[in-house]
Amino acid sequence: MYECPNCGGNLKFEISSQKLYCAFCDTRLEPASVTKEADTLENDSFEVNVFLCPQCGGEMISGDNDATAFCSYCGAANILSTRLSREKRPKYIIPFSKTKEDCKKAYAQKLRKAIFAPKALKDSNFIDSFRGIYMPYWLYHFTQKGPVAFKGKRTKTKGNYLYTDHYKLTADLDAESQGLSHDASAAFYDSISQELAPFDTRNLKPFTPSYLSGFYADVPDLAADSYLADATDTVNQNTAKQIKHHTELKSYDVSLPNGNKSLNTALNTKCESMDSAMYPVWFLSWQNQGRVAYAAVNGQTGKVAMDIPIDSKKYLIGSLLLAVPIFLILNLFLTLRPSVLMILCAVLSMTATEIWRYELDSIHMRETHANDKGIKLSKKQQKSDKAPKKQKNSSVTPLSLRLIFLWLLCLFTALFLSNIASRLIWPAAIAGTAYICISGLKMKGPSQDTKGGLSPAAVLASVGAATLTGLIRPVSDLWYYGCVLLMLASVILCITDIIRNFNRLATYRLPQFDKKGGEDNA
Ligand SMILES: [Zn+2]
Ligand SMILES: [Zn+2]
Repeated sequence: MYECPNCGGNLKFEISSQKLYCAFCDTRLEPASVTKEADTLENDSFEVNVFLCPQCGGEMISGDNDATAFCSYCGAANILSTRLSREKRPKYIIPFSKTKEDCKKAYAQKLRKAIFAPKALKDSNFIDSFRGIYMPYWLYHFTQKGPVAFKGKRTKTKGNYLYTDHYKLTADLDAESQGLSHDASAAFYDSISQELAPFDTRNLKPFTPSYLSGFYADVPDLAADSYLADATDTVNQNTAKQIKHHTELKSYDVSLPNGNKSLNTALNTKCESMDSAMYPVWFLSWQNQGRVAYAAVNGQTGKVAMDIPIDSKKYLIGSLLLAVPIFLILNLFLTLRPSVLMILCAVLSMTATEIWRYELDSIHMRETHANDKGIKLSKKQQKSDKAPKKQKNSSVTPLSLRLIFLWLLCLFTALFLSNIASRLIWPAAIAGTAYICISGLKMKGPSQDTKGGLSPAAVLASVGAATLTGLIRPVSDLWYYGCVLLMLASVILCITDIIRNFNRLATYRLPQFDKKGGEDNA
């Protein structure tokens, strides 16, 4: 707690004035002017209250000891237990400049467009549980100075000849990069921190502990050099790009060495310092059915990062309401032969299963944290005994490309080819659907986070029935319409699975932090 020098009241950081404010005697003070005795500048640590969540083991620190009602990691509404501790002092801080009101407004704006979002997310009491948390970041400072040499060429044509002149270009490089930063907490998902970026590091202030009064903070648990290679790579690529576009060099076809290591030597890249800093984030977590969804707002810029789950009931009712008028309008303008209608439905079925499969792939990627370097690194740093499982590189052709191909093939056959040729579409349709469904079910196998498995089987069965009908070509139209209905029903089933899996993607498993002895950081 920071005491007001006038009346002994509790000082809190006030965002609008960027000062420490005492509500009892209406005094405002510069944050740097208020320090606890033990926290003088010479000391490289500072006193904090540590809050420990009994449910997930997540730890947060704060400058004051107000008991808190929510855990930001798992959304638990328990009172967290506290103790005093000392933490290493970060070098810089970006103080909050967006107030909680600004943050709530930005969040509401984003949700306004999400008509299928669950009601609970729009509840004003819930929205009020947004909390200001300082997230730890590593801040990299690079210099690239001195003489550099690289190859360049110019090509010109004279008559029938092509002339290429090769040059050895030398330059005196003087580049400096400050403010490149990466989040330093494994608990903070990379996907969220990337969405929140960038922070404007020109507003960095020297850290003083009283900035934290009234706020929470997470402590870094990733080593400073965790992202050094990434940061170096970014700096090198930037400089290389600048060199290529430099006015003096524009007319040459400049070639710089490939690869990070050779670029490092070629550009004299040097990491001058790696400093710890704290960046402001407003954080909200929503726990539902054993899963948690996060919303985060950049406390400096007001940028919102969130995954919005879908309320499946709302969604189905909404799409039915939309489907009826579309169906009526279509009926006015075109009359489809039942055989063509059946082909169109098969295409729809394939599209639905392909989306379902693509989604499973994303879930698989997320579960294995294929894209989250922070989580991978922290696991490595903890020297987990489990040998890393070999992961097959998933090689999914972009969804849209395949779909366009399928659509074109089927429409073409359905509308322009003769009756005999259009029979050929059916073996292709059943083979395609079977491939998509089986490869999707295989992906579902190792994933614990997916739902459903019945819908692809239903789609496969109904497309199978349509295939038989398409090949046999019965006289009565009723057979065709029966298959159409079957396929539509299986598509609706598939869409329900898609929504449920989408919600799995929009939420996270409840975190279990190692501090408590759990084994999964996810
Ligand atoms: Zn006071
Ligand atoms: Zn918790």
